[in-house]
Amino acid sequence: MRPLQSFSGLLALVGLIAHGGAAQAWVRSRTNGCHPVYWSQSCIYLQPDGELTKDLPADQVQRIIQRSIAQWQDRIGGSFLRLIYVPPDGPREARFDRQPTIKFRTGRWCRPGDCQGDRESCYDASAAAITTVFFVNKPDNEQEDGLILDADIELNSVHNQFYDADQLPPRGDGRTLTDLENTLVHELGHLMGLEHTCRSAGDGMPDCTVDHLGQRPPLCSTVLAGMDRDPRLREIAETTMFATAQPRETKKRTPEADDVAAIVAIYPAARDPRSCERPRPRDQCGGGGCALAPHGRTAAAAPLLLLGAILLCMRQRRWSGRTC
Ligand SMILES: [Zn+2]
Repeated sequence: MRPLQSFSGLLALVGLIAHGGAAQAWVRSRTNGCHPVYWSQSCIYLQPDGELTKDLPADQVQRIIQRSIAQWQDRIGGSFLRLIYVPPDGPREARFDRQPTIKFRTGRWCRPGDCQGDRESCYDASAAAITTVFFVNKPDNEQEDGLILDADIELNSVHNQFYDADQLPPRGDGRTLTDLENTLVHELGHLMGLEHTCRSAGDGMPDCTVDHLGQRPPLCSTVLAGMDRDPRLREIAETTMFATAQPRETKKRTPEADDVAAIVAIYPAARDPRSCERPRPRDQCGGGGCALAPHGRTAAAAPLLLLGAILLCMRQRRWSGRTC
């Protein structure tokens, strides 16, 4: 199992027609064995940690999280995947426990060390968020490699002042003003298994990564430089899964036709496994299986971290040596 940190029917069809043809770009996150990551169940239950950002009232944060989920859910009717919001009920940490978690980091922009033997791991300050996807890592087993078992979203409240761009911006305090919904909708794309629609040096994207047409994703710098004269590049830049965002940006709030087409293609309604049982969150410090292996890679477990909506940052993704 490997943690990797990395959309509906008629609506998607309308979008495709509006764009004059096939979707331009969607990309799946892949394992080292080059298999795309995927969820095998119909329902993903998302729960925030009990302690939310102090930047906004708790009830407003919860509403924004629910709105972000709905931005996807309202568009992916052609997919069997369902994102289901679970209200916070106490402390939750972002680690492999089978409970997809949304966690605000307010003190240090780091994942703390834990009782499983992992040391504190700090992230790039320019990343507004990071999504870690835990998946089965069996490169030689095509059936199982890439099966997602858990995924967590961490939000960087240390360097970002999260706010709701529908309202007047708050008084600045030196942190980057960042629309929470814009960030969350992008991260939810990673959580469902999507990769960025562009690449950059050092982003950790496996060389075998291609878009749904078999093409290597373009460099983010190429997209940004050419988007004003090339409609194809502009379409890529407009996707919710584009790797960078501007401060106060809101355009990633609404998944584009490409983003939606990705989820419908990966999780088509016709192949609904009809499994909506909520996995029992495992004891984060007792645990079993890979939770007991403190260091080093095991045959079946390792983590990959994908940085999320990145503010003017070239790093999008990070590999780590965690075991599970
Ligand atoms: Zn991202």
